[in-house]
Amino acid sequence: MSNAPDERLHPQLHLNSYGTYLRRRFGSRISKVNVDAGFTCPNRDGSKGTGGCIYCNNVSFSPRETLSAVPLEEQMAAGMAYHRSRLGSEKFIIYFQKYTNTYGSAELLSALYRRVLDHPDVIGISVGTRPDSLSDEALDLLTDIARTKYVCLELGLQSMDDAILNRINRGHTLDDFIGAATRAAGRNFDICAHLIHGFPGESAAEFLKTVPLMAELPIDSLKLHQLHAVEGTELAELYHRGEFTPVTLEAYITTVADFLELLPPRIAIQRLYGSAPLEICVAPRWGLKNNQMWYAIVNELTRRGSWQGCRSVGA
Ligand code: SF4
Repeated sequence: MSNAPDERLHPQLHLNSYGTYLRRRFGSRISKVNVDAGFTCPNRDGSKGTGGCIYCNNVSFSPRETLSAVPLEEQMAAGMAYHRSRLGSEKFIIYFQKYTNTYGSAELLSALYRRVLDHPDVIGISVGTRPDSLSDEALDLLTDIARTKYVCLELGLQSMDDAILNRINRGHTLDDFIGAATRAAGRNFDICAHLIHGFPGESAAEFLKTVPLMAELPIDSLKLHQLHAVEGTELAELYHRGEFTPVTLEAYITTVADFLELLPPRIAIQRLYGSAPLEICVAPRWGLKNNQMWYAIVNELTRRGSWQGCRSVGA
C-alpha cells in the first residue's frame, strides 16, 4: 500500500472526485447540465446494429421520441436554474448525454455544440458517444472547441471483454474503444470512459482487470455503474426468465472499493452508481440515491483505511 494519499484525492472522500477536479481547475463549483439534442443511435438504426444494447431502454427509444421537443436553450435554462438553487453552482458544462452525440455531420455537430457554448455561464461541453461513431471531423471539431472551452469526450466501453460486448449486443469491440481513445488523445481535451459492472458471467476478478487497461490508456475520468435492468429492455426479460442475476449491493460496494484502490489517482471519478426511476427499475432495486451509494463506497474505503490508488497499478 502506498504510504500517503495523493494530493489530488479529496481528504474525506478518499478519492479523486470529478467535482473536486473541476473546482481545482476552474476555481468554482461547476455543474453538468444534461441536454437531449435529438440524436439517435447507430446501434439501433441499423448502420452499426439493430436492437441496441440489451440494457438500453427501448421503450423510450424511437426516432420520433428522440427528436428533442424542448429547445436546447430551454433545457439548459431549466438545468442551470436547478443547479444554481440546489448547489449554488455558478458555471456549467453542458452534457450531450442521450444516445450517440457525435452521430451526425460535422456541420450539425458544430452548430449544436457552439449553440450551447454561446451562453456566458457555460464553460464547456461534455459529449457522450460510442467508440465506433467518432469521425476524424468530429475529433477535429472538438479539438478546435477545446482551444477556448472545456471539452470532455465520454466514450462508452462498458466491458473490456469482447464476449460480453457481443452478448450484450454492444456492436463494437475493445479494439474499437482503444482505437478511439488513442485517436482522441493529445488533443487538449479530457477523455472519460464509461464502465458497467455486473454483466452475466462476469466475476469481480474479471472486472478488476479493467483497471490496468484504464491506467494504460489516456483516460482522465471514469463513470462506473452497476448493471441494472429497466422496463422495456431485453435485460429485463432475461431477469424475468431467471437468466440475469444482478450483483448484490454488498458485492458491488466491495468490488468498487477494490477497483478504486487499484486505480491511479490521476483518474477522476465522475460516477459510481446508476439509478433509474423506481417505476421502471426492474432489478436490482436498491432504492439508493446517488449520494447514498457514493458514501457507502467512501465508508468502505474509510473502514479499510484505504484510498484511491493505494494499490495503484499505474501512474
Ligand atoms: S449505444 Fe447507448 S444509446 Fe445506443 S443502444 Fe447502446 S445504450 Fe442505447
